[in-house]
Amino acid sequence: MNEDTWGSVQNDLLKTVGQNNYVTWIEPLRFATCEAGVARFEVPSNFVGNWVERNYSEDILRHLISAGANVKRIEFDVSRFLSSASSRDAAQPAVNTVIKRAENEATHAIPASSVHSSPLDPRLTFDNFVVGKPNELAHASARRVAEGGPVTFNPLFLYGGVGLGKTHLMHAIAWEAKKRNPGLKTLYLSAEQFMYRFVRALREKNTMGFKEMFRSVDLLMVDDVQFIAGKDSTQDEFFHTFNALVDQQKQIIISADRAPGEIDGLEDRIKSRLSWGLVVDLHPTDYELRLGILQQRLQDHLAAGETVIIDDGVLEFLAQRISSNVRVLEGALNRLFAFSSLAGDHITVDVAHEALSDMIRASDRRITVDEIMQAVVKHYNLRMSDLLGPRRTRTIARPRQVAMYLAKTLTTRSLPEIGRRFGGRDHTTVIHAVKKVEALRDDDPQIAEDITILTRSLEG
Ligand code: ADP
Ligand code: MG
Repeated sequence: MNEDTWGSVQNDLLKTVGQNNYVTWIEPLRFATCEAGVARFEVPSNFVGNWVERNYSEDILRHLISAGANVKRIEFDVSRFLSSASSRDAAQPAVNTVIKRAENEATHAIPASSVHSSPLDPRLTFDNFVVGKPNELAHASARRVAEGGPVTFNPLFLYGGVGLGKTHLMHAIAWEAKKRNPGLKTLYLSAEQFMYRFVRALREKNTMGFKEMFRSVDLLMVDDVQFIAGKDSTQDEFFHTFNALVDQQKQIIISADRAPGEIDGLEDRIKSRLSWGLVVDLHPTDYELRLGILQQRLQDHLAAGETVIIDDGVLEFLAQRISSNVRVLEGALNRLFAFSSLAGDHITVDVAHEALSDMIRASDRRITVDEIMQAVVKHYNLRMSDLLGPRRTRTIARPRQVAMYLAKTLTTRSLPEIGRRFGGRDHTTVIHAVKKVEALRDDDPQIAEDITILTRSLEG
């Protein structure tokens, strides 16, 4: 078996265990090896390993076998590097899997002329969306669009990092718009699905049907549009669909993980088209927003009849120590519920600390400027005096800039303080270094890799 087998098994498991369990227990697993009939997975903590072993190992094994893997047993090892945040990226299904899935989809082809929206999640409504400073503008704009009326900003472009509520807002708009106008034709889909449908239409020689279907909707929502970057024919088709709808005064809502102008591999005409309407970003959550979301989620669990005893201070602890990604935050809370049902105990701050050790590890450790300097010196094979001294040859200046950048991003030290630590340099030098490295990181894979390695070793 290989990563692909695991990718397709993950898709099967998503259907059988449900979204919540999937995100909490299956997605964090990372396939490591399969030898002599034993498939090994890395898990972020003992707790997750034990839970998955007890509750899901038979399911996983069964699915692996029916996917043709030669497996008799599975084992879980705790990985030092997996935290729930990073495992999310690693657990993205491989591209092959995605394409296979698309082909699968094509075999149960729906008539391309009927409007077939991806199902809307009933939990993702405005009622369930907690508003705080970081998302208030995005929320207000979403509300405005959902109210209907004359199309004032088109498209509404929502952007922000993973797990900050883009998809939630889009679903909420669709629910609200349907409620106000039940006859409204809404179509929500990811940019990935847009591409698959387009590819399918090409293969089935039914691009007319495809065009008609898209051009007959009143409200089109395309999620994660960064996905079509670099995919030229899909971009082209997207552009035409987009223009046709705008010409007809139909509302379009787009999301992406970054601003239109920052999506590499997206044609300039599309970038500028996307910026015509209203562009709003969702900022990383702050403490108050996280706490608000946790309180609301706790209420939901209690309202659903679950009995949990959570000590005072536990939610505050989570809001303080877990990532700004709301999905990760919810995962942490789910895990606590699982823990309390397993241990039959009530949740104290200490219990939370133990059950979530892998999720809080990264933010737990205080990285110092000294450690950063030492790591950089070692990584680039320099002497400490090189880093602190005046020499400006590139082989020294570059690592120095990387070190300053890491000091800025991994510690809470101020720019003047960092400057002082690096041989008494001015804070403007530090600003310049940070900007430089940020720019290089996007263009120079070597620098990007250096940063990843250094960050990992510092946080590990
Ligand atoms: P994105 O699409 O930006 O990656 P999602 O919309 O999928 O993020 O949000 C991730 C999870 O966090 C979802 O379960 C969503 O319901 C929840 N969530 C995000 N922001 C909020 C919020 N402000 N209030 C309540 N739940 C939120
Ligand atoms: Mg999303």
